[in-house]
Amino acid sequence: MAEKVIILGSGPAGLTAALYAARADLEPLVLEGGQPGGQLTTTTEVENYPGFVEGIDGTKLVDAMREQAKRFGARFEYGRVVECDLSQRPLTIGVADPFDTSDEAKAQKQLETQTLIIGTGASARYLGLASERRLLNKGVSACAVCDGALPIFRNATLAVVGGGDSACEEALYLTKFASKVYMVHRRDQLRASTIMASRVEKHEKIEVLWNSVIEDVLGDEKVEGMRVKDVKTGATRDVELGGFFLAIGHDPNTKFLKGQLKLDAQGFIEVEHPSARTSAAGVFACGDVMDPHYKQAITAAGSGCRAALDAEAYLESLAD
Ligand code: NAP
Repeated sequence: MAEKVIILGSGPAGLTAALYAARADLEPLVLEGGQPGGQLTTTTEVENYPGFVEGIDGTKLVDAMREQAKRFGARFEYGRVVECDLSQRPLTIGVADPFDTSDEAKAQKQLETQTLIIGTGASARYLGLASERRLLNKGVSACAVCDGALPIFRNATLAVVGGGDSACEEALYLTKFASKVYMVHRRDQLRASTIMASRVEKHEKIEVLWNSVIEDVLGDEKVEGMRVKDVKTGATRDVELGGFFLAIGHDPNTKFLKGQLKLDAQGFIEVEHPSARTSAAGVFACGDVMDPHYKQAITAAGSGCRAALDAEAYLESLAD
């Protein structure tokens, strides 16, 4: 028997879609994905989600959203979608073990659904250096909040690459443990919001290396340094480090679609704004997987609401 609504992803987008679909008695099934709770679980304090005067821990916020959706009948399963057929009714999706993140992961079961809401979010980007890959989890990390408190980073000199809000947040977070934090940014101006940029620039433990790119991450068994190039002068220098963190943005998680939905040039799912409708009937998208611009927890939640309302209207149109 086909589900009425399956929701992929359990960040603010998927969980808000679950809440709305559940309140509409659609008994949505949420597949939580490889990172239950999404990117908010890798952040510390969320200060800009309305309603929390003093801010709220990211994990607590998504846990509350999940419980709220469950209260109205949303069901949750662990599972990562690795394939789908969106060309036929009912829609079918192939689900693999959520913790097998390899590209070769095979579907262990097939599910059928009348509508699909995709809120699979985005994953951290890497520079693509062989040394970065080799030293991953040996001092290289794309999540300061997840890994920063590890003993290897205590009292060490650390680097964060990037100039956006994430890089600022990660650099500030790492000052709790590190003796010094370099922020390595390829331009002469941060992309981050004024408040985050000013916190970074005022912090005594943080030094921003402007107009700088990473040529290499140094070290055999663990991170020992970085080779940085000044893009204005062309000069390179080696800097000793105990840890190397990436905060250079995220790529939308759309691999499983294998060309079945219209994506934009950067790989984000195209929707018919202001609706959440995608290029396939009965398939809706919300959150960071369709948003190359705002990428906020609150905008993701708002788009999850739209996706659920659109799915509900679509199901009603089928019944007519
Ligand atoms: P982002 O705003 O896209 O910033 C990515 C940064 O990485 C940019 O500074 C970019 O440089 C740099 N970069 C990208 N590719 C690079 C490469 N190959 N080599 C070197 N540098 C590279 O991403 P984000 O910081 O993850 O933020 C995403 C969204 O979440 C934003 O809308 C942000 O406001 C929001 N956010 C908000 C908060 C908060 O409010 N507390 C916290 C985290 C994130 P250029 O600047 O030169 O392009």
